[in-house]
Order: sequence, then structure tokens, then C-alpha cells
Amino acid sequence: MTVPDQVPADSGTEGTVFDIRRFSIHDGEGIRTTVFLKGCPLRCVWCQNPEGLDPGIGLLWFSGNCIYCGACGACGDPRQLIAGTGAETAALENCPTMALRRDGRIMTPGQVLAELEKDAVFYRHGGGITLSGGEPLAQEDFAAAVLGAAKEAGFHTAVETSLYAPRKGVDRIAALSDRIFADCKIFNEADHIAATGASNRIILDNIARLLTGPHAGRVIVRTPLIPGFTASEENIASVARFISGLYPPVRYELLNYNPLAAGKYPLTGREYCFAENPDPYGAEEMETFRAAAKKNGIRPDRILEWT
Ligand code: SF4
Ligand code: SF4
Repeated sequence: MTVPDQVPADSGTEGTVFDIRRFSIHDGEGIRTTVFLKGCPLRCVWCQNPEGLDPGIGLLWFSGNCIYCGACGACGDPRQLIAGTGAETAALENCPTMALRRDGRIMTPGQVLAELEKDAVFYRHGGGITLSGGEPLAQEDFAAAVLGAAKEAGFHTAVETSLYAPRKGVDRIAALSDRIFADCKIFNEADHIAATGASNRIILDNIARLLTGPHAGRVIVRTPLIPGFTASEENIASVARFISGLYPPVRYELLNYNPLAAGKYPLTGREYCFAENPDPYGAEEMETFRAAAKKNGIRPDRILEWT
């Protein structure tokens, strides 16, 4: 890998980013800088990043800082302050305690690359950039510009995607990614619609194309284990059968439930799917899920786990 002396020329394509997390170790090989792009066409009831759902820049409300003075007119639900009307800017200016903050910012690919460069020394031992979200493919041009520039600079590139996106966009981004984390959350279509608001046909079609195409070896299929929604032996068996039938050496990752997302919901004025936040699965339960995957065609050494 050649660490660039300077940031490559900017393509001029701007994107909306809601977070940049440095030194991440769960979003691909080595130490990663994960860039979270705003906007997602799905509405998974358990979404781990509710602040990334809307494509536009809105506000977050930090209740601990709020003195309930009423100056913003939207205490408790920052979504009342419609982005672009000027209302949110006025509210930000009027808030005396910084209880309101913007939930994203506009960036150019060059600015993202400049962030990436700060950690370039760590990438010498593996690592690179991961685009996440939201759904990164919802900002296809920006995602392609960032990944293209990162590749040109010699960085390892990865993308985390729901694959709920047009074929052309998936193929374009896959060609620019050294690692593709593709979610397969729920196999049954009716259950998928109920939990995410959309059919999974496009997703399954994209998975099938990826796993039978030239990028198959770069794909890791993931199922986040959400109690009552995705985490059943039946669902994991169906996903495992489907993906191993397409590409027998497929890598499959089971992502244990992460209870931390619940804490983000009050910031956004949205409601979380669990009134009582469940615990992550224990070793025994994880073994049950692993066994369902193995029984249905995933090779034991191709099962990955993040707990
Ligand atoms: S202006 Fe700020 S401190 Fe006052 S109610 Fe609104 S969020 Fe709370
Ligand atoms: S696909 Fe990801 S970002 Fe989009 S709603 Fe589902 S969990 Fe949230």
C-alpha cells in the first residue's frame, strides 16, 4: 500500500455523512475508519443508527442538556423542526444549552480522504476505509467517488450494505470494494415487509447476483440477530440454505444483538421496537444459531461471529 502524499483531486461530488468512527475493528480487515452515510430506504424497526435514516440533515435532542425552556418549540422531538425551512437553524441558535445539535454534515470525497489519511499509519498492518450508514448505496455517486479515490490512494475498501438498491448501483459499488458486507436479515418476504417496510426480493436478487458473479469471494453475508425478528433457527436455516446453494464457500457472519442502539432513539424522537431492551445472546444460544447455519450448508470454518 502506498500512503498518498496528498489527498487526491476532489471529484466535486458531495455527500451527507453522520459519523466518522476511527479505529473500528468490526467493520472489515484490520483497523478501519468507518464513514456513515446518511439516508436509508428501509425502516428496520430495530435500526441501530436511527440518526442515519433520513437523508437530509436534521437535529438531535440531548435531553440531559435540555432545560425545557421552550425556546426551540420542538422539545422532545427534533423531527418537528423540518430541515431546510430555517426552523432548525433558528432553534439551534435559540437553544441556550446546546441540547440541539445537527445530525450530519456535508462532505466532499477529498475531505473524507483527508480524514482517512490521519490513520494511514495504522493501515500499514491491514485496515482501510469502510462505508456504512444508513445505506451507503443511497448516495451512490458519493460512495463511488470516495471508494474510487480511496482505492487510487492504495487503501483497502469495504462497504456495509442492505443491498436494497438498484442492480447497477450494487455492481458499481461492488467493483470498487475489496470487501462487501451484505445483509440478509429476514428470508421470509412477509416477515421482511413487516419488519423493514419493504419486500426482500431486490435484496435476494442482489445477493444471488453477487454470489454467482466475479466478486463472490469478497462477500460476507451477515444476519444481525434481533430477538423476535431475525434471530430464529428457521430464519438462519433459510438464509444459510439460500446463500450456500449459490456459493458453497460463502462466508456468513452472525451479528449478536447490540443493545446500545436503544439509547440513540430518544435523541431522534423515534420509538425503538423494544420497550424492554433484550440482552445479547449467550454462548449456548449462539451455538444454536451456528448449528442451524452449519446444518444448512455453511462450512464450519466460514461462519464468523461478532459478539
Ligand atoms: S431550546 Fe434547547 S434547552 Fe430549550 S427546550 Fe429546546 S432543546 Fe431544550
Ligand atoms: S438497513 Fe440498516 S440503516 Fe437501514 S433501516 Fe435497516 S438497520 Fe437501519
